[in-house]
Amino acid sequence: MTKTAFSDQNCYFCTVANGEADPWIFENRSFISIFDTNPVNPGHALVIPKRHVASLFDLNDHEHEDYFDALYAVKRVIESTDLKALYEEMPGREYLKGRPTDHIEAVLKLPFLGNKPDAYTIGNNDGRAAGRSIDHLHVILLPRYQGDVENPKGGIRNVISERAHYQRL
Ligand SMILES: [Zn+2]
Repeated sequence: MTKTAFSDQNCYFCTVANGEADPWIFENRSFISIFDTNPVNPGHALVIPKRHVASLFDLNDHEHEDYFDALYAVKRVIESTDLKALYEEMPGREYLKGRPTDHIEAVLKLPFLGNKPDAYTIGNNDGRAAGRSIDHLHVILLPRYQGDVENPKGGIRNVISERAHYQRL
């Protein structure tokens, strides 16, 4: 693993991008990827630039190219990983000792764990007002499964739930 040239020592995702935290599941020239240790659904992955850059809109030209390469490749990694084995192994990781593992236990109980994803939600809270808590870009690649929520219609529109509903005539 190579140390990144532009990192902030107080930033968790710089630590990850330096190979000092979560194990990488993918690396290209500009991005690395990890499985989120607070998974919302089986296979929940993060695609993170090596450079400490806050916004998707601040990526440079070669990062733009590498962004889609990373998304496509991480999708393939998600679909070829034994996710049951992943979540059985994850709570035993040294750096997670003493941290809550309820998200991991919850996905281990999901009836669709082990199924191929039926769809994806691809998301990025690009700024604090959008819910960002670490100012280093991390694109969420979230596998979706038939029946994972009661009514998926609207998808990411539901982040502002009172304005999520719409009707197309
Ligand atoms: Zn950073």
